[in-house]
Amino acid sequence: MPQEQLQKILDKCKTSNPGCDLELIERAYNFAEEVHRGQKRLSGEPYIIHCLAAAEIIADLKIDSKTLAATLLHDVLDDGDDDKTIMEERERKLEKEFGKEIATLVKSVTKIGKIKYHGVERAVENLCKMFLAIAEDIRVILIKFADRLHNMRTLAAQPPEKQKRIALETLEIFAPLADRLGIGRIKGELEDLSFQYLMPGEYFWLVNQVHDQFEERERYLERITPDLKKELLKENIKPLQIFWRAKHYHSLYRKLKRYEMNLNRIYDLVALRIIVPTIEDCYATLGVIHKIWRPLPGRIKDYIALPKPNGYQSLHTTVFSQGGKITEIQIRTLQMHEEAERGIAAHWYYNEQKGLGTYIKRIFVPAPEKELKWIKQMQEWQKEMRESPEEFFQSLKIDFFKNRIFIFTPQGDVIDLPEGATPVDFAFHIHSEVGVHCQGARVDGKMVALDTSLQNGQVVEIITQKNARPSRDWLKFVRTHQAKDRIRQWLTRHQEKLSGIKETEEEVKKETPKQEPLRPISRPRVLKPIAEVAGDAKITTTLAKCCQPQPPQPIRGYITLNQRITVHRANCHNLAKIKDNSRLVDVRWKAE
Ligand code: MN
Repeated sequence: MPQEQLQKILDKCKTSNPGCDLELIERAYNFAEEVHRGQKRLSGEPYIIHCLAAAEIIADLKIDSKTLAATLLHDVLDDGDDDKTIMEERERKLEKEFGKEIATLVKSVTKIGKIKYHGVERAVENLCKMFLAIAEDIRVILIKFADRLHNMRTLAAQPPEKQKRIALETLEIFAPLADRLGIGRIKGELEDLSFQYLMPGEYFWLVNQVHDQFEERERYLERITPDLKKELLKENIKPLQIFWRAKHYHSLYRKLKRYEMNLNRIYDLVALRIIVPTIEDCYATLGVIHKIWRPLPGRIKDYIALPKPNGYQSLHTTVFSQGGKITEIQIRTLQMHEEAERGIAAHWYYNEQKGLGTYIKRIFVPAPEKELKWIKQMQEWQKEMRESPEEFFQSLKIDFFKNRIFIFTPQGDVIDLPEGATPVDFAFHIHSEVGVHCQGARVDGKMVALDTSLQNGQVVEIITQKNARPSRDWLKFVRTHQAKDRIRQWLTRHQEKLSGIKETEEEVKKETPKQEPLRPISRPRVLKPIAEVAGDAKITTTLAKCCQPQPPQPIRGYITLNQRITVHRANCHNLAKIKDNSRLVDVRWKAE
């Protein structure tokens, strides 16, 4: 079955892009297949099926072979392997075999996967940050969409609690993003899938309500289409396609709520779509339609002259068609149609160089103006987000992208800092106590000097020590006002003491006792996971290395073979792979 699925993807590529690199895609498949061999999804399917399904979604969006290869590989650095050396080795191998560009895409997707969803109240802000963090390469978010869409399609295999959480995250974050990027196809499906899990009662009620209406509408549109075609041809308009599309359930439900749940008031339950070659044809078609069928006043929308913020273009009209039936008609060119379905993905194009009769080189190039337009759109969108802090959006200018870097905590939170910021800036951003006791820093797992300039996308862990204290030298390299102010405050507060003893910075450093073992700031000192196993409170618990749970995160315990309990985050992906539920126990944080 995986082989057939791969063949299907290769066929799709060949049709949509004659210059695609089939060899690369096959190579990526083989690499991913080897890594995931033996791994199973909760549904029992081999893991590679998920990678192929995501890749097929990307192939349908007609994105380049490199993105496709990265999609096949998107989980190879995130299979929960505890062994760091294995992962590092694999990362090296990935870059060696597929080059920096693909390896970077895979790494970014893995990183984004670690961003936590904090619930509705923090969703918007995190969403924006997540976006900014990856704005460097939109292909990363496209891969993430494909990943999420397949996970949503297979959500039934997850436990109910997890279904709700993932569905909510999808509805709150992924669907609005897909909408904003204009990818109508993905947005509609993500919404309907979430709707089904979040409000099953409403969903199935609606499906039953509209079933007959959909069918009746479709039969009716089938009947009127030949007449319409004839009228268009009379005016020398050659439609490329005429078809109809049923409205998605979730958007229908939202609309119904505005119309007192009265289905008869929804005219675009099934809309007729006419695809014509040129913009002139769009307006001419509108003329023909209004000549044969009377338009409903106030329902004509010219999204060609005035596109929607996400770039959507079409002419919409609602008419009394044959038998007085009210019908919505959408008219657009093929390009507008592609953009409505593929959104931002259609804004990228292939720059293919021909050589000796074959396509030898394909470069993935962003269309500069369109990209700029997209950034502007994103800003507009963020402005619309009323719940979010005003200043955050005001500070969001285009140069904001150039001058900010996004740093991840080991737990996957994103911290934005100015360019050139150092681990000390990062430490003070987290908490002034962390800044004051900052003793060392690990960047992507390696110890670095405190004045190191951080780079976009790095994972930074601050090592604190009770007796560590700020140094006046820090003022020379910190970039944020916050860090500068706090260091000055601390120095002033301790000045008296310092000048009294006439200590130099060097002496302060020497004096600092080093007996305290290094420990990451995030490790709790007072809270320890306690297993709630009936009659046995003494069982030893250890924190899982893979997800490093922190209080007050929801946690769950796993009974290991030697009767210890490993405590994972409740949403740990390794935990999700466990099939034997009897090994899972409830655990909670308790003061030691
Ligand atoms: Mn995945």
